Amino acid sequence: ALVVGRRVRSRKKWKRVVGVLKELEESCETTVGRLRQVVDAMAVEMHAGLASEGGSKLKMLLTFVDNLPSGSEKGIFYALDLGGTNFRVLRVELGGQRSDLDPDVEQQPIPEQLMTGRSEDLFDFIASSLHRFVEKGNDSVQSSITKELGFTFSFPVKQTSVSSGVLIKWTKAFAIKDMVGKEVAGALQQALARKGLNMRVAVLVNDTVGTLALGHYHDADTVAAVIIGTGTNACYWERTDAIIKCQGLLTTSGRMVVNMEWGNFWSSHLPRTSYDIDLDAESPNPNDQGFEKMISGMYLGDIVRRVILRMSEESDIFGPLSSRLYVSFALRTPAMAAMHKDDSPELTEVARILQDVLDIPDVPLKARKLVVKICDVVTRRAARLAAAGIVGILKKIGRDGSGGITGGRSKSDIKMRRTAVAVEGSLYTQYTMFREYLHEALHEILGEDIVRHVVINVTEDGSGTGAALLAASHSSSGSVDNI
Ligand code: BGC
Ligand code: MG
Repeated sequence: ALVVGRRVRSRKKWKRVVGVLKELEESCETTVGRLRQVVDAMAVEMHAGLASEGGSKLKMLLTFVDNLPSGSEKGIFYALDLGGTNFRVLRVELGGQRSDLDPDVEQQPIPEQLMTGRSEDLFDFIASSLHRFVEKGNDSVQSSITKELGFTFSFPVKQTSVSSGVLIKWTKAFAIKDMVGKEVAGALQQALARKGLNMRVAVLVNDTVGTLALGHYHDADTVAAVIIGTGTNACYWERTDAIIKCQGLLTTSGRMVVNMEWGNFWSSHLPRTSYDIDLDAESPNPNDQGFEKMISGMYLGDIVRRVILRMSEESDIFGPLSSRLYVSFALRTPAMAAMHKDDSPELTEVARILQDVLDIPDVPLKARKLVVKICDVVTRRAARLAAAGIVGILKKIGRDGSGGITGGRSKSDIKMRRTAVAVEGSLYTQYTMFREYLHEALHEILGEDIVRHVVINVTEDGSGTGAALLAASHSSSGSVDNI
């Protein structure tokens, strides 16, 4: 009788856990129909954000980048890339002809205390790293020739010119209060002066913009760039007459790159779970970056942690409740990806990570399988939403095969042009399942006839190298070429 009783209890607890999983799957559902609604909402919000300042949660920020590198740029240029988990300094030599760029790159993690301390300390740290880097490259630090620098700063900035702008707010893990509302390039320029570095911030750009620049350098059909890393965002090449909130905006190309800040996109069509709601409420920026919190690397692991916690509270299939499960961000996305891709029969990697990272030992195989399933549901939703975002941009610029939302041309008139999107970020490049789900969703939403014309190009270090290229094309010495 005792054994039977245990079995009944065990069946009951599995039922509860399966119930939690079912509920998760249902609330993460991304049918093609729903993704199309997200596509439409994205295109509509893009219009709204371009129509008036504050017209949408999509800020649709001006970048003042009105020409993209063509290959004719010449000279030695530097770049600083700040905004994700790592910080990079780069030096690139441009020969005046399109070539495989082979920049010198140095990378280091940003000390955590600098992300939440004082802006001066952060900028001094950056300037010192750059100082060391320049010296190592046998380039004189104080030479009388001013070196041109592209500064990639991956946060929402209200630009006042291509080389200046103020920080609107922090995202991701950064929260330096005294910096909000301050001039970003100015803060760097002052730090460079403190270190005696003769350098000029020639351009201040978002990482998406750098990626677009490098993407376009290699493939002239590139019209948009997407980052899916610690955070997520996109920018694209827009006609200035479509930027209604800035009437009379004139550029020689008639175009400008617009930084969408799509991480802050919101729509009632997004499939939201109770875990998303809790994550948002407990984050330092509640009600902000809603799309980002469902998609990017900073958050996916934490969603999974929350689901495992819930299951552990409802049953003991993971054994006694581990206190690690209550620690925000205890499970990082790389560990989640490693569990997701574990295809060993005993799921030994899953067991190891649950033990090492979350302090949950001896998890039975059945429960390990469940963990893989949770990772799958969370990543699949993320990747499919990112795909819908990309199609939203294509729709806005009339490259989704439908003629654009105000196009009014009939489908038969449309000759779909080859359209390239530059993509960068660890989720896309390092997380195979994420990438595959994203591609699959692009196929589903666009259909085979259209998707054939859409190319996704991965750029390497585009956010940084692209900034160096833009420094070149916007410097006094570099040649300018409009597209
Ligand atoms: C920032 C964007 C950035 C993106 C990717 C987001 O959190 O708001 O400016 O492009 O992360 O780094
Ligand atoms: Mg980056």
